[in-house]
Amino acid sequence: MASDRRSTLKRKLIDTGSDSDNETEKTAKYIKTKSEAPRLCPYLDTINRQFLDFDFEKLCSVSLSRINVYACLVCGKYFQGRGTNTHAYTHSVAESHHVFLNLHTLKFYCLPDNYEIVDSSLDDIKYVLNPTFDKMQITQLDKSDKQSRAIDGSMYSPGIVGMNNIKANDYCNVILQALSHVTPLRDFFLREFNYAHVRRPPGDSSYLLVQRFGELMRKLWNPRNFKAHVSPHEMLQAVVLWSKKRFQFTEQGDPVDFLSWFLNALHLALNGTKKRDSSIIYKTFLGHMRIYTRKIPPLELEESQRSELLHTVEYGETVTESPFLYLTCDLPPPPLFKDQFTENIIPQVNLYTLLNKFNAVTEKEYKTYKENFMKRFEITELPPYLILYIKRFTKNTFFVEKNPTIVNFPVKNVDFGDILTSEVKAKHPYTTYDLVANIVHDGEPGQGTYRVHILHKATGQWYELQDLHVTQILPQMITLTEAYVQIYELRKDTHMENGDNKNKKVM
Ligand SMILES: [Zn+2]
Repeated sequence: MASDRRSTLKRKLIDTGSDSDNETEKTAKYIKTKSEAPRLCPYLDTINRQFLDFDFEKLCSVSLSRINVYACLVCGKYFQGRGTNTHAYTHSVAESHHVFLNLHTLKFYCLPDNYEIVDSSLDDIKYVLNPTFDKMQITQLDKSDKQSRAIDGSMYSPGIVGMNNIKANDYCNVILQALSHVTPLRDFFLREFNYAHVRRPPGDSSYLLVQRFGELMRKLWNPRNFKAHVSPHEMLQAVVLWSKKRFQFTEQGDPVDFLSWFLNALHLALNGTKKRDSSIIYKTFLGHMRIYTRKIPPLELEESQRSELLHTVEYGETVTESPFLYLTCDLPPPPLFKDQFTENIIPQVNLYTLLNKFNAVTEKEYKTYKENFMKRFEITELPPYLILYIKRFTKNTFFVEKNPTIVNFPVKNVDFGDILTSEVKAKHPYTTYDLVANIVHDGEPGQGTYRVHILHKATGQWYELQDLHVTQILPQMITLTEAYVQIYELRKDTHMENGDNKNKKVM
């Protein structure tokens, strides 16, 4: 009798609702000790999955607090707390919305009754909030051409989904999209296990960048998403914060600046050092080159004086070893046709011509305020993924100019072997690359928009992604665009072909 009364009391206490963690524990204990089946919630069919969007900052829509936030699964809004007089509680009473999800603990509750709902039919909602991948699923990503169906019936291929342009963040989106198709990088970030142990000094929030990038990767590749697009909102907030507002989503920026900053920030946040193996960023993108520099004697000097200077130590060639995460390719100056724009003559150049900059022979002049230099570049180590930055914009004193030259490049089998010295080539069994991502700028310099071309490896099909728009594109169309940043993947063909042949023999 006495215990019965206590139960009733407790039940009352629970039913009036309480918000402290203690109370939550008591509730859980109560259910367990009574060993009754979890209460069946009669409101599960009021859940509206099409209203659920977990890509936005997890804060209460009334108090703007980030603590103890619940999503109302009927209207999709976020509210704080679940005890009496909390915003979630008030919302449930005022609107008769009863099913809530704690966005931190991933537990479901019925309000205002305030009991936990345990029901496997809600697992899909949990998965959208926090998609996870095991090794097996990851190995299938580039092999399976299975499409997924969003709540609204639209079909999508995981990894090929649009991304919201909140205001002017297309310059970030194209980079995030491109990086999500760099296989080792993607695979690393799809498993939180790979970076969950990384610790940063107290007060250092750079780990947030790693975490948010991981979340974004998992959402982009989610095979069971409710919608066929993802918002990078939370990811970009971490970018704004960690870059101290250098990169914003409210004004157009330069994808190369963002990429360069982002790769370095991720590398450091993952406790990367100068060593290649110290982070997934360096393992994937780090290459090395040698830079040969020599000073040019001032032109105003007489010829004899100039040639005398050339023999001095000061004018001798110096060599520096330099790591790189991307290669900067210079476009030849566009011909100054009088009616260049009205006649619509677009200059073109071959990619291999641009790459000759790195063949250890070609010398290029560089001017500083005081002196002139000649430099030549020798690639000494090629990375598994090679990023090319095609320098289209030049800053003059008054404005930014754009070079519209079209670069002719093959989408497959770009051979870097020809630009390597024989000594370096001997160290590289493979030198052929395939394009996996191509970022394009359209419009006026300093403004305009960015879009990205992505290879869907499972089908070999190319897609163009611009904000929320996803369209198929023929590879030959890609080469007609004003390419700005490209990512190439090293082919290890011979190796793979051998493997295939062996398999065939066995079969
Ligand atoms: Zn609601």
